[in-house]
Amino acid sequence: MFGNCLEIVMKTCLFCQISQKQIPSKVQFESGEIFAFDDANPKAPVHILIIPKRHIENVATANSQDKKLLGEMILTAQKLAQDKKIDQTGYRLVFNTRRHAGQIVDHIHLHLIGGKKLGQMA
Ligand code: 5GP
Ligand code: ZN
Repeated sequence: MFGNCLEIVMKTCLFCQISQKQIPSKVQFESGEIFAFDDANPKAPVHILIIPKRHIENVATANSQDKKLLGEMILTAQKLAQDKKIDQTGYRLVFNTRRHAGQIVDHIHLHLIGGKKLGQMA
């Protein structure tokens, strides 16, 4: 039963569809488990979203089985920051989680933001 629910979620979820290339995006990195693409509404010169191909809703619903995947997301951000030459100037990594944080897409995603001096966080 849960398997079927996940299938339905993955057919309708925007980021599942982007990682399956059913919806186009500017791809920055892809591996067996990870997908990274430009944010459609960038907040800085570099604004990339790093997601797992497997559907996880957010940090609040992740569990210990997701440890390796979460680590890979962060190391992918590190690699992309080097590729984009913002690793020395610095960058911000953000996991918006649920409504108060402004999460609008319910598929876990790590924002990699940089390329300019960023303002203070709320
Ligand atoms: P959230 O607010 O959920 O943390 O961030 C979701 C991000 O996804 C936003 O920064 C938004 O600009 C981006 N986004 C929403 N829809 C699309 C889309 O269809 N394509 C791409 N590339 N980014 C999207
Ligand atoms: Zn999804």
